[in-house]
Amino acid sequence: MERRSLPASHAGPRSRLARRRRIPLLLPALLVALLLALAWRGRGRPHVPTWGLMFHPFGTPVDYQTCGFHTGQDWFSWPGAPIFAIAAGTVVHVGPLWLDGPGQGRGPQAIVIDHGGYLSTYSHNREALVQPGQQVRRGQRIAELGSEGFSRGPHLHLERVMPPFTGDWRQPFVGCRSYVDPGREWGWF
Ligand SMILES: [Zn+2]
Repeated sequence: MERRSLPASHAGPRSRLARRRRIPLLLPALLVALLLALAWRGRGRPHVPTWGLMFHPFGTPVDYQTCGFHTGQDWFSWPGAPIFAIAAGTVVHVGPLWLDGPGQGRGPQAIVIDHGGYLSTYSHNREALVQPGQQVRRGQRIAELGSEGFSRGPHLHLERVMPPFTGDWRQPFVGCRSYVDPGREWGWF
């Protein structure tokens, strides 16, 4: 009787051990599935413009912009944080934008990208990592976040603007109605 019960008593701990070995494989598999699901959900949407929080939306009344409303979104992040192209396109401008003097405008390293039907602008950058004429992929790292120009702290001012881009950084867009809401739905991959 004792010999027969011996294998049975060993079966319990052995199967518990096997279950424990399966769990470490299950967790990475679930994580990969989650990432794939997020990537699938994000396809076709604009890429998130930086790893940060959007704290000032488009369209709110402000006294410091000539249109009287916030023409883009402000994204808070750390100085030097990566800035990503929200969609594939062609870089049409790298340099000053609306810059009247020190502490004004969008800083000396702002970027404008032409996406065909619309343009996107990236302001207050610490450093631009692309050149005019360059083709960029959706999600490509194009700049380091900064606080250049009229800015009270490190943030990205992201705009979505309807063409045309005039090519003149002092007056790059025509009228206040050319600014549209960049939206709230982002793909993270
Ligand atoms: Zn802003």
